[in-house]
Amino acid sequence: MTTARFLKARDIAPWLEELSTAYTVLAPARHGDTVVFRDFNPANGIDMEHLSATPAKKALLPPCETLFEYKTTKTEEPPYKTAIELHPTLPEGKVLVFGARPCDARAMQIFDRVYDGNQARDPYYTARRNNATIVTLACDHQEETCFCDRVGGSPVDATGSDVLLTPLKAGYVAEALTDKGETLLNSTTFMKADGLKQEALNARHKMLEQVPDRSSFLDMERNLLSLFSDLGFWDKTAQACLSCGACTYLCPTCYCFNITDESHGDSGKRIRTWDNCMSSQFTLEGSGHNPRPTKAHRMRNRIGHKFSYYPQLHDKTLACVGCGRCISNCPVSFDIRNAVACAIQQADAAREHAHD
Ligand code: SF4
Ligand code: SF4
Repeated sequence: MTTARFLKARDIAPWLEELSTAYTVLAPARHGDTVVFRDFNPANGIDMEHLSATPAKKALLPPCETLFEYKTTKTEEPPYKTAIELHPTLPEGKVLVFGARPCDARAMQIFDRVYDGNQARDPYYTARRNNATIVTLACDHQEETCFCDRVGGSPVDATGSDVLLTPLKAGYVAEALTDKGETLLNSTTFMKADGLKQEALNARHKMLEQVPDRSSFLDMERNLLSLFSDLGFWDKTAQACLSCGACTYLCPTCYCFNITDESHGDSGKRIRTWDNCMSSQFTLEGSGHNPRPTKAHRMRNRIGHKFSYYPQLHDKTLACVGCGRCISNCPVSFDIRNAVACAIQQADAAREHAHD
């Protein structure tokens, strides 16, 4: 049986301040006109009302991290050999993500299958993941750009969360879903709230009732594959795109990275940074050949990866959680929902044509 506690809205900041001694706490807060996930600082406040423009993915995959430091030494015998000393820098320390949305927490499981799955295990990612606790806030309203319900999620989905917060008057019912969550709720800040569980459940039902009845984007990996060779379709789809990459950097499920060495004389460090598949240089090879030379190729890859290639590799789970950040932050308002809906229509039309 899950533990339920009540957290008064006014107690959140002092509680997070107390936790900051043991955790790096990330929480949504204002930065100018925008809400972003940032290191908790009581002076910045917390914004529990708006979906943050940035996702919480940096908790597991920082924009820039040092994988190891190295030092090279020329050996005297034989003189043409170089010895290398490596000093790995595995991340340590606990991280608390407070106020993630259900789509953010779900997105972390999309990373898990890639970085901590059966085929490969990234020790840097795994260390962060094991040390991370995710406190998710159920969404009592969907933004116009939200579509989690069309990609297998929901505004009250607890997938990937350690604690689920349900907003009620003057505070939140906090329900522990894992041992990490239980540990977190074991604080005198919380009041016992097993009696409020039903009220929280009712509130979540109301949130679900607000979700519009609309078509799903699940099970469409074949549709997109059938459009793979139709570059005309992708050209039209990508026409307005500026290749700026904002959509990839702000996407909670985009996980591509680049590796570079920064050398200073005989020592240096190997760095991993986020990369962006919408950039023309992403697939540029040393020979000068580029297998994705146009915006059409890159858009096909971005949408194909999320709605076709990833689901085929990972039990039909889409690599889009419907957060809508790529829509609300795109400088030309590219709407991935329209692109996917057009792809479905186009594939259906092509199928009908083939049967005529
Ligand atoms: S944010 Fe918009 S313009 Fe920029 S790369 Fe993405 S789709 Fe293109
Ligand atoms: S593709 Fe867009 S809507 Fe889907 S998870 Fe990424 S940012 Fe969110």
